[in-house]
Amino acid sequence: MADAQPLANVYPIGSTINELGRLEVGGCDVVDLAREFGTPAYIVSEDDMRARARGLQSAFAAESDDFKLIFASKAFPCAAVCALFAEEGFGCDVASAGELAIALAGGVPAGQIQMHGNAKSELDLQRAVELGIGAIVVDNLRDLDRLEELLDGSSRQKIYLRIAPGVSPDTHPAISTGGPNTKFGFDLEHAPAAIARAQAIDSLELEGLHFHIGSQIFDLSPFEGALRSLASLGEFKAYNLGGGLAAAYTAQDHPPGYAEYAAAKAGALESVFGPGHRLLDEPGRALVANGCVTLYSVESVKRNVDTYVAVDGGMSDNLRPMLYGARYEAEIADRFGGGTACHLVGKHCESGDILIRDADLNQPAAGDLVVVPATGAYGHAMANNYNGALRPPVIFASNGDARVVVRRESDDDLLVRDV
Ligand code: PLP
Repeated sequence: MADAQPLANVYPIGSTINELGRLEVGGCDVVDLAREFGTPAYIVSEDDMRARARGLQSAFAAESDDFKLIFASKAFPCAAVCALFAEEGFGCDVASAGELAIALAGGVPAGQIQMHGNAKSELDLQRAVELGIGAIVVDNLRDLDRLEELLDGSSRQKIYLRIAPGVSPDTHPAISTGGPNTKFGFDLEHAPAAIARAQAIDSLELEGLHFHIGSQIFDLSPFEGALRSLASLGEFKAYNLGGGLAAAYTAQDHPPGYAEYAAAKAGALESVFGPGHRLLDEPGRALVANGCVTLYSVESVKRNVDTYVAVDGGMSDNLRPMLYGARYEAEIADRFGGGTACHLVGKHCESGDILIRDADLNQPAAGDLVVVPATGAYGHAMANNYNGALRPPVIFASNGDARVVVRRESDDDLLVRDV
């Protein structure tokens, strides 16, 4: 029963098992949510995301008197989520004109937005410049050439230069982005020339340097090493240390807390460059992963050599297990507990479409409602229409009320681009 099974730290803050034995998120019974909104569905606890936003703000405030947190919107690019973090005082990082449009639709002021990207298009930069966004993170010399052409000299565009510090944190290679041989940013050999070129363009104001060494990082020590690498490039007003803090996907994951993360980053900045520098940080995953669960319906249970529990979603709503073997856990939403060793699989036409290999569910049966927690980061973001899947809605739940912030796709949406 409920009391015997406390919820693991992977669930949204405040989630409970109610007297019917069903999971509640944001005060809403998920069985009722599935009935009302259908499955698959992303259920977001709004209060969880606000609590994390506030927790991270306080953690940095305790360590620095000159910092700015920027939500990496790629982790959960939807207007309502961008709006939530903007309301909590975050800036917003976008990686394309498309993400820029989403942030603006969420009401994020242009001046609070920063644009990234290792292959920014003319259109990306044109939009950014026209709208007067807060800063552009320059990745390569072509960015500088294009910005020089696009800016008419009436105002100066703030920029950062993205540097690859040659540091690889302990994470999956697919999400390690600051090593000695990466597609992102200027390496240490080419950075001095890029800095000189940026400083020579009158319409640009070089605020500082940026790095993002990777994602799902548990060991925080590489941040100081990354800053030490940057020290050879001179001293700047501001340093953007990227995102990267790990989230807990399974009960075995114990990422550093926000206080530890903020202390590591602020401490590293001060120890390498001394006091008086502005610290920017742009987390995504650690803010949004655990605030969201995905609800699925079980369509079939097949007993082959192994048992396959097949649900009505899969790699179309959560690509991460297939992309880089990401681990999740699952429960039957109104019958927590294990007992049946099985694989939780998707509905797509690939054998690799396995959401959770070696899952442990409580007597799964067709018609059951399955919940997979910690799906807020890079789930909705990477969702796709493989096999004509209709991308799931995003439902915000708070204090027992639920509202749709992104509706489910329809067949018409699938055909809207066909001519
Ligand atoms: N900043 C940049 C430039 C990124 O590419 C990313 C993610 O890929 C982030 C920030 C956010 O990283 P995370 O979600 O690990 O916090």
